[in-house]
Amino acid sequence: MDLSFLERDYTIPGEFLYLFVVFSVIIFMRYVIMSGLYQKLIYNKLARMIPRRIISPKYPDSQQKREIIWSGISSILFGVIGVLMIMAWQKGYTAIYTEWSEFPLWYIPLSFIGALFVHETYYYWMHRWLHHPNIYRLIHKVHHDSISTSVWTSFSFHPIESILQAIIIPVIVLIVPMHLSVLIVLLMIMTISAIVNHAGVEVYPASWRKNPIMQWFIGSTHHDLHHRRFTKNYGLYFTFWDVWMKTESGEFDDRFKKATTSQ
Ligand SMILES: [Zn+2]
Ligand SMILES: [Zn+2]
Repeated sequence: MDLSFLERDYTIPGEFLYLFVVFSVIIFMRYVIMSGLYQKLIYNKLARMIPRRIISPKYPDSQQKREIIWSGISSILFGVIGVLMIMAWQKGYTAIYTEWSEFPLWYIPLSFIGALFVHETYYYWMHRWLHHPNIYRLIHKVHHDSISTSVWTSFSFHPIESILQAIIIPVIVLIVPMHLSVLIVLLMIMTISAIVNHAGVEVYPASWRKNPIMQWFIGSTHHDLHHRRFTKNYGLYFTFWDVWMKTESGEFDDRFKKATTSQ
């Protein structure tokens, strides 16, 4: 991997600006390209072939525009956090490593699963806090203005929420040693799962609800119910906190069955 970008001095304003623009553009374009492809290749295709898979009815064009604008602002903030993370890495504050031999190989999956668990736990409890009436009105309402969600809802957050969501990643890598590749995979999973869970189309097979591992994964039907019912299904990647805290919607199984099983 080319790490020459680590040689540059980002305390110089011009250098900071350069990397910030590069990161923000990449993050925004990744959102646009991946969301657009998912909409075209998965949503539109299933809408034609298996209409019961569509769980979010059509949403107004104005919603899409609003979501893309908020997502653009989120991308800018994610870009700033990205540059600050690189600067912290340069100064040796992070536990990011690049040599595979630095830690035993078994540590790679452990650090990956551990980071997902920490992220899930942080997100679940932060999300519960975001639903406190005062905080909700001030911050989280922006995301919930989309009752029927779409791929474009995936980065549509109030700027404070975007920062709160993204900040956990630098915090994790300040403390937990993590190979750069694991970090990149985590960042990709964040984007992909946000798109899958907001796309308004259930893509999981019916059998996943009975699978001992896959039943813990959040999908579109699960998160769609959060946008419709507000006080259920707070999880990000996994359902376990909702199950443990009894915040999982009682409608979930029925809706999932309806979307995935032919009558
Ligand atoms: Zn959402
Ligand atoms: Zn919410």
